[in-house]
Amino acid sequence: MLKSKLKQIQQGKFTALENLLQFSKKIATPKSKDLNIFLSLNENAIDQAKAIDKKIKQKKAGKLAGLCFAIKANISAKHMTISCASKTLENYTAPFNATVINKLLAEDAILLGILNMDEFACGASGETSAFGPTKNPTNPELITGGSSSGPAAAIAADLADFTLGSDTGGSIRNPASHCGVTGLKPTYGTVSRYGLLDLAMSFDVIGPMAKTPEDCKLIFNVVKGQDNFDQASKDAPEKSPTHKNTIGLVNIKDFADKKIANLIEEQTKKIAKQHNWKIKKINLPLDIALETYYIIVYTEFFSNTRKYDGRRFGKKIEDSAGPEVLRRIIGGSEITKAEHDGKYYREALKARNYIKLQFKKIFEDIDAIILPTSPKLPHKIGGTISVQEMYNYDVTTVLASIAGLPAISIPAGQIDKKHVGLQIIAPQFQEELLFKLAKDFK
Ligand code: GLN
Repeated sequence: MLKSKLKQIQQGKFTALENLLQFSKKIATPKSKDLNIFLSLNENAIDQAKAIDKKIKQKKAGKLAGLCFAIKANISAKHMTISCASKTLENYTAPFNATVINKLLAEDAILLGILNMDEFACGASGETSAFGPTKNPTNPELITGGSSSGPAAAIAADLADFTLGSDTGGSIRNPASHCGVTGLKPTYGTVSRYGLLDLAMSFDVIGPMAKTPEDCKLIFNVVKGQDNFDQASKDAPEKSPTHKNTIGLVNIKDFADKKIANLIEEQTKKIAKQHNWKIKKINLPLDIALETYYIIVYTEFFSNTRKYDGRRFGKKIEDSAGPEVLRRIIGGSEITKAEHDGKYYREALKARNYIKLQFKKIFEDIDAIILPTSPKLPHKIGGTISVQEMYNYDVTTVLASIAGLPAISIPAGQIDKKHVGLQIIAPQFQEELLFKLAKDFK
């Protein structure tokens, strides 16, 4: 989809400025505004588009010339308010560009603006933003999923060509699933985190969201790569894996809505037949997924938030953030208390290693793993669900995060007029395989 638009722009059938104005008009309609997707807009976008049109005429434009994108409010873009959808940082202006932003601008993509999200990326519904929940464009009564609520909704509502979200434990995949769009969580470290305001640095990864897997591939290939500003970043190794033509279908019945599990199984069987894949039923350690994830996330988040002390930038987080953020700060401070001698954190790290080993074993016989992106259908905005129920949204996504594996969510159909996402997980650095398999599902 984006490739054909790029061609049209290159051939002068459609200008970068026209593309921008089309999105700007749509973003400004009352219907779009009501969805609460954008937190702020880039005032320099028109000048940028005009400059890009000149470059196109001179045949000097970059690979993404004229495409318009928007970003989650935790990715730094110079001179823009990067609030993490929190009162704590509501007046914080980023002094520099994240590496991913520099890469996209260097290829002449145009930044439209900053998108709503769960506060500090803590959440799975898009409801914890201090600036109000993002509504699901496919049914505004429903949650978008989170925490990359704005990035998913912007694609579903056709308000950007592509967006960037961040995924710590599912935050790209989960809203992609609920909004009926595609979202890639890359291998941990393949995309620089420089300029990302972190939730938990050993999980966080920036990734693209768009209509199709091909579009996500286009953007991933621009933003990926080792970066001297991020010590954990790395290039993918050159060698290509040998394929076994076997897909692992996760036994999910005890953890997911039966209707969702059945839909994913049916779809997988159908496509497997068409493409001659063998299917192997597998088990993942889903029973320890949430405990492992949340103990590490609470600990890392608590440590990260110590810089929001009200002295350097923003307000003191304890005085200004919402309940979910405070829960994690209190929980993180408890877990890390000296008298516990690190025992909870150490146990969680042991479990993390165990989970990594399980994946390693599983991937000895199969190429990729398929399971639902989200174990349940989206609830109504404002519906009363418990903290445990909210955390349960993550049971299907956190394992790939714990092991640093790449995973993609693609639309798999609808149940009761609500979107269901299919998730594919691959071994580290095998994003290419994910794109290929995701394309086969069409
Ligand atoms: N829902 C998960 C959490 O609240 C994931 C968040 C994310 O990936 N940013 O931690």
